Amino acid sequence: ALVEDQFTTMSGRDIAIRIYTDRGDEDKVAHALDSLKRAMKWDEEVYGREYDLDLFMIVAVADFNMGAMENKGLNIFNSAAVLTRPDTATDDDYQRVEGIVAHEYFHNWSGNRVTLRDWFQLSLKEGFTVFRDQSFSADMNSAAVKRIEDVRHLRAAQFVEDNGPMAHPVRPESFIKIDNFYTLTVYEKGAEVVRMIHTLLGPELFRRGCDLYFERHDGQAVTCEDFVLAMEEASGCDFRQFRRWYAQAGTPRLQYQGQWDPDTATYTLTLEQKHLPSPGQEEKEPLHIPVAVGLLSESGEDLELTLDGETEPCGTTRVLDLTGERQSFVFTGVSTPCVPSVLRGFSAPCILDQEIPREHLLLRLENDSDGFNRWDAGQTLALDCLKSMVRSLHAGEEPEIWSELVEAFGRVLRNRDLECALAAETMILPTESYIGDNMDVVLVDEIHEARRGLRREIARRFEDVLLERYRELEDHELRFDAEAMGRRRLRLVCLGYLATLETPSTTSLVETHFRRAANMTDQMGAMALLVHIPGREREEALAAFCEAWKDESLVMNKWFGVQAISTLPDVLEHIRELWKSPFFDETNPNKIRSLLGAYASNQVRFHHEDGRGYRFLAEKIVEIDRRNPQVAARLVAPLGKWRRFDEGRQDRMKAALKHVLTQEKLSANTFELTRKSLEG
Ligand code: ASP
Ligand code: ZN
Repeated sequence: ALVEDQFTTMSGRDIAIRIYTDRGDEDKVAHALDSLKRAMKWDEEVYGREYDLDLFMIVAVADFNMGAMENKGLNIFNSAAVLTRPDTATDDDYQRVEGIVAHEYFHNWSGNRVTLRDWFQLSLKEGFTVFRDQSFSADMNSAAVKRIEDVRHLRAAQFVEDNGPMAHPVRPESFIKIDNFYTLTVYEKGAEVVRMIHTLLGPELFRRGCDLYFERHDGQAVTCEDFVLAMEEASGCDFRQFRRWYAQAGTPRLQYQGQWDPDTATYTLTLEQKHLPSPGQEEKEPLHIPVAVGLLSESGEDLELTLDGETEPCGTTRVLDLTGERQSFVFTGVSTPCVPSVLRGFSAPCILDQEIPREHLLLRLENDSDGFNRWDAGQTLALDCLKSMVRSLHAGEEPEIWSELVEAFGRVLRNRDLECALAAETMILPTESYIGDNMDVVLVDEIHEARRGLRREIARRFEDVLLERYRELEDHELRFDAEAMGRRRLRLVCLGYLATLETPSTTSLVETHFRRAANMTDQMGAMALLVHIPGREREEALAAFCEAWKDESLVMNKWFGVQAISTLPDVLEHIRELWKSPFFDETNPNKIRSLLGAYASNQVRFHHEDGRGYRFLAEKIVEIDRRNPQVAARLVAPLGKWRRFDEGRQDRMKAALKHVLTQEKLSANTFELTRKSLEG
């Protein structure tokens, strides 16, 4: 089926827009169309880039390995990245579609008009284009929330890649199959590298650099080096040291130390960078890291900053150029003690590798003027508390729940001035996998118990407030703007805390939420809570959902996925049954991901200590590899994390990898990643 529309460019040319879908899906393209037109306009306004042909087409297909592909004038899309309708797509789907439609459209310039000289330069188009789509989404929605989501994803997935057997630079040095290098490092870290250039230059010089790059290389196939050269020439800045970001793998570790001197009214901030070895890169050199910092007074106000040697104050956030291994920066005119807020806006993809005093985190959680760092202070505090609970549980002791943390979360919950989406993000505790990523050895069961314990404690302490907010956040009219989505999100977060109490009344509240849901966000949100609670409500909801949506393949992907994240002990047997369901299709990439991708992220169940999860995944990788090597290879990564676990799990994960590796006729894709995972 075909849906048509049109767009008038900045020079007044009319462009015909066409979206092709399977018949029956024509009523699910309005949002993609609208996103496309907004993206076309945004690229004109922010980058001065006009569309060049008279026709722009998108075709949505149900079986596609990736999200989408930017073929000139005819973008090919996974239908999951195009189709939305209020009753079939969640708010997250709406935002994802907006981002991907924009991403592929932006490739028309960053990817097609200027393309790659060779595959090693993949990040030249992907990192840059991800940065472009992130900036677009930030402008369309809440910038702080978008940054939080992007960093959450970067930390959860790219940091793990960068710290494991697949660690590689943004510009890789070798590969067997380039399919395997459509990685988080090339895409997401690549975007961070472009973002750092933007931070170092500021928006005007950055734009000048982009103009030069597009003008000079239009119609050419070029390299990452050409991009950096254009930035240098247009700005007069020196990026010699900065270039190492393209060549050096691994996530840098940052430390800071502050010293206030009342006699001279100065505050000295010392920054240090460290680099751990990664496969094939034992020795590393210091990077040029833009570190955005602010100083908060003890009452939480931002100080005006003046760097020693400069006469004018530079505002309340200053980007420091860290180029040495250890460097000190002196701020003058500081007449009160203060608390540093370092790496504001997550100005560089680094790990702050130190204990931050609890009082500092509490002060920043309540007062930091930087939305990102405010959220991050809460996350760090929660992570520190959870880690200490995990250690106690492991030692057989009673875990201590920090009351300051619980009270601070209560204040976030009560604060009606805080943007709902930001409050929701703040209330969401670090995931079980992320807690594991931040421990020397992942203590699977203790992590599960600690996180659950902290959630229940917050729910018990604030049950009334949670209910009150849950009720007041109800909307009777369905809108899809950032504010309405933020309200829905916070409302579901409140419901989620209440659900952990598992009393008849809270479970019935979730059930009612499910039954009354007037959109997919609410329906799925409630379902994702019910799947963890055994009983009638769970079974009835799953059955009703299936009955309602069995003919909508994309919606059924959600039904499969949500069951695979259930923390109930029998989840694996259940997945085996779902695999045989008439609504499942083991040849469809989205279906495969909905069960296997979700299951591998279910830390407490996938990492069952007898290794059943590992054996199941290995078995499926082998089966899928015969049909679809690209998809099979992407399922190997969860097993490649074996170094992070106890010896028993290590052995069983390695055995699963060896089982895959010893198959006859293994594809080059799966071979490359499995071998790397075992040896790397
Ligand atoms: N180039 C695509 C993208 O990132 C991915 C693909 O090659 O299919 O937009
Ligand atoms: Zn892309």
